[in-house]
Amino acid sequence: MSIAFIGLGVMGAPMSRHLLEAGHTVTAYDVHTPAVEAFVADGGAGASTVAEAVKDADVVITMLPNHPQVEEVVLGENGVFESAATGTLLVDMSTIRPETSVAISAKAAGQGFGALDAPVSGGQTGAQQAMLSIMAGGDETDYAAARPVLEVLGTPRHVGGPGAGQVVKAANQLVVAGIYALVSEAIVLLENSSIDAGKALDVLAGGLAASRILDLKRESMIAREFTPGFRIDLHHKDLAIVLDAARRADVALPVTGLVAQLVAATRAMGYGSLDHSALLKVTETLAGQ
Ligand code: NAD
Repeated sequence: MSIAFIGLGVMGAPMSRHLLEAGHTVTAYDVHTPAVEAFVADGGAGASTVAEAVKDADVVITMLPNHPQVEEVVLGENGVFESAATGTLLVDMSTIRPETSVAISAKAAGQGFGALDAPVSGGQTGAQQAMLSIMAGGDETDYAAARPVLEVLGTPRHVGGPGAGQVVKAANQLVVAGIYALVSEAIVLLENSSIDAGKALDVLAGGLAASRILDLKRESMIAREFTPGFRIDLHHKDLAIVLDAARRADVALPVTGLVAQLVAATRAMGYGSLDHSALLKVTETLAGQ
């Protein structure tokens, strides 16, 4: 297939390479030119505009920070819908608010394009190892067309109509932030009780408190190693999406509200560019450390 890939950041860089390795023709674009040059050095094709990237594409994948960038690239002047051939399938894999995905899907249908929202979970490691969990929203036909491409990147699941992928991702992000907040509190409790936190978390990881976060992050958190990964800034953005989705669904999510404030405080303390496990820093501060 001919694929246009837009957004070669922490996630998009390894994802675009996997598509190349799988034998697809991939043309990439990013506003950050060195990312495109690196992609070309790895055997891909580079474009200097969105329009150039998408003009011969069967599938356009976007992996951008947030909804303003997705709107600009997809709906903007010389964007995907102005420049791609009718029938092209857009797969937006960014994490954005569901209503933008719904609006894009409606525009796509009106103009003869396919569209899926297909955000991912698994982080940078999942992208590098092609083991992302992919939650797709959109119609069955578009999902069936995208599935072979998505399977190169991980495990896709069709979770509902337009925007459903983003709502599932929102649920994922509230669980992840909550686990980080509680692992942080466990570390603070253990260390202030003169207990070896490393040994103690090994015990937790073997019991009912086990989680992927404990498995992958307990050592780096205890060592106060917060190189991203997934930045606090992005999780702050995602929790705003979660709380907005909760308001639209007319439900109260009190624990998520509290965790969102802890993430906001971590950011306000100047740690926005650290990994989201840096929630430990605000937990320590609240404990008087
Ligand atoms: P990133 O900031 O590393 O990458 C985004 C890329 O988009 C950058 O290379 C940037 O130059 C490019 N870009 C920005 N505006 C652009 C535009 N108008 N046109 C073209 N390129 C543009 O972000 P990331 O960590 O790769 O995350 C991308 C998306 O995936 C976000 O929505 C994020 O929430 C989500 N996500 C990230 C992770 C993670 O662990 N990093 C995990 C799951 C989901």
